[in-house]
Amino acid sequence: MRISETFYSIQGEGTLTGIPSVFIRTAGCHLRCRWCDSLYASRQARGRERTIDSLVDEVRRYPTRFCVLTGGEPMLAKGIHDLARRLVDGGRHVTIETAATIPPQGVACSLASLSPKLANSTPGMDISVAVRRRHEAQRLQPDVIRDWIDHYDCQLKFVVCSSSDIAEVIDLLDRLDRNITPEKVLLMPEGVDAAAFSKVAAPVIAACKEHGFRFCDRLHIRLYGNRPER
Ligand code: SF4
Repeated sequence: MRISETFYSIQGEGTLTGIPSVFIRTAGCHLRCRWCDSLYASRQARGRERTIDSLVDEVRRYPTRFCVLTGGEPMLAKGIHDLARRLVDGGRHVTIETAATIPPQGVACSLASLSPKLANSTPGMDISVAVRRRHEAQRLQPDVIRDWIDHYDCQLKFVVCSSSDIAEVIDLLDRLDRNITPEKVLLMPEGVDAAAFSKVAAPVIAACKEHGFRFCDRLHIRLYGNRPER
């Protein structure tokens, strides 16, 4: 498998925040989010080849049962189904962090952390028209999101840049037409440093209080800044 990096840290986002976890970050992503904080992982060529055996062995060395498959887009990675199955069968709790644009097709998964991309993710004019168009065409796949929701324990995590994004979240939840409890909907202020994060936090907290959504911190940004967690 093409792997960007592996590391042992605490989960910094979502309902499992604070839990020591082994992270396996796959290389390669078909999207190009404007605010992506792991662009280094979005290029497949930058990853290095790892066998599934070596990844499973590495996970076993850490004193936690929690494992996070992230990216890039982990569902694109060749071998992801075999890796996830080996980890779950080995007793690991496996979170898959995905943009939910690729169907799960039965992938073994304890928690699907779905991060559908809002319009705020579309790259700016500094990026080529072709890349922007491709991102726009692929970023949101409601049928695929429903497929995940219907088959897995899920959390839906949205990156929010401004208060106007909240209406888009609510509209998408309506369109999905699924019984998603509000505390499974996580609103995460955009920001790759503590100052930028705090700037957007106030309207996000207000929206959470109004709709019952969960405020999603980025603990790793506060602890480590915008660099790979160690
Ligand atoms: S889907 Fe994730 S890895 Fe891919 S560009 Fe967007 S934020 Fe980055």
